[in-house]
Amino acid sequence: MTSRALDERETAARPIARRDTAPARAGYDVEAIRAQFPILARPVRGKPLAYLDNAATSQKPRAVIDAIRRYYEEDNANVHRGVHLLSERATRAQEAARVKVARFLGTDDPHEVIFVRGTTEAVNLVAQTFGRQRVGPGDEILVTCLEHHSNIVPWQLLCQEKGAALKVVPISDAGDLELDALDRLLGPRTRLLAVTQVSNALGTVTPIAEIIERAHARGVPVLVDGAQGAPHLGFDVGRAGADFYAFSGHKIYGPTGIGVLWGRRALLEEMPPWQGGGDMILSVSFEKTTFNALPYKFEAGTPHIAGAVGLGAALDWVGEVGLEAIAAHERAILDTAAAALAEVPELRIIGAPRERAGAISFLLGDVHPHDAGTILDRHGVAVRAGHHCAQPLLARLGLSATLRASFAAYSTPREIEQLVRALHAVREIFA
Ligand code: PLP
Repeated sequence: MTSRALDERETAARPIARRDTAPARAGYDVEAIRAQFPILARPVRGKPLAYLDNAATSQKPRAVIDAIRRYYEEDNANVHRGVHLLSERATRAQEAARVKVARFLGTDDPHEVIFVRGTTEAVNLVAQTFGRQRVGPGDEILVTCLEHHSNIVPWQLLCQEKGAALKVVPISDAGDLELDALDRLLGPRTRLLAVTQVSNALGTVTPIAEIIERAHARGVPVLVDGAQGAPHLGFDVGRAGADFYAFSGHKIYGPTGIGVLWGRRALLEEMPPWQGGGDMILSVSFEKTTFNALPYKFEAGTPHIAGAVGLGAALDWVGEVGLEAIAAHERAILDTAAAALAEVPELRIIGAPRERAGAISFLLGDVHPHDAGTILDRHGVAVRAGHHCAQPLLARLGLSATLRASFAAYSTPREIEQLVRALHAVREIFA
């Protein structure tokens, strides 16, 4: 196939045979779930929306939207410092959200839950506190080839500052981590292993419990990037034994601008504060400042209270639907998508990891992913095209961009049919 200019007249949808691989899961009423997401009912470019960009951000159920609106209508005030009723209500709302996050992560200590802007900020926080305190010249930070830029660049900055080295666990051609190499790379100078639970670009699920076990056997603490793992698999910090876990609210049906860093209390206690300001102090004089207790030591300034409330509502929503039910539905949808995509001529699925969650990357002949993504958009299909903030991973695979379809609790076989139909339209244009 050779690229040529887009022509809207050529993009008319062409019907394809209906696939009957629909995951009809007993008790999982995907249409009833979809009905809770107002945006999914909005046509896009005159077509029904097939929202397959969930790895970038998920849509929000009415319960989350209402919780945020209710917070602003009924409770809004600044937290912690107020003596008035609304301030008490706002404080209670924020702290209730913290308890919900702790429960979601399987811990009963909400003081280990630090609200941040998202996964990116959580990783930077650890790099700039734990990292700065513990890493020196000649030390090593270990990441993997699967990482999102957010779990690479903060460590690179730290290594540059400290004269340390960034080491990388390689992957196989299938997109799985090479665990033998992990063992070799875990050395006496390794100060931290930072590893994703699920790759946002390939969907690879890493064997996280085993990885943590191997790192701990060498005395190396582990930060898990749960941006993609939390919404599809959840994470039990106690059972998995991680030292730090980061995730973003907006990828798990919550609002943007709020996320979580969970850390083991003993580590968090030892770490110096990161940003200075209100709320993170107990007392301040020009000579000396004493810092607040956990988690406030790491929460300088007015927090994103409405965001925390929205995240709490999102986790409630996930709990009501059931994370396991969501995961089973998404697995079935992913299988349906993989089978349907495999039948599109000249389509190449990228990677074949042992376990995949949430996302699948592919290329269509030699059509540039941006061209294909633009045409898919005209058919109401929202996918991501590009490097997915994982340039080193794509470079390892000899690529610079892919198309990525990614799924959520409300994804349907109908959306996959729409995607496949639109891919056929792309092929016709570039034939
Ligand atoms: N890590 C992974 C695996 C991601 O997929 C993303 C976002 O796509 C991030 C980190 C960064 O998340 P955020 O932009 O919400 O901070």
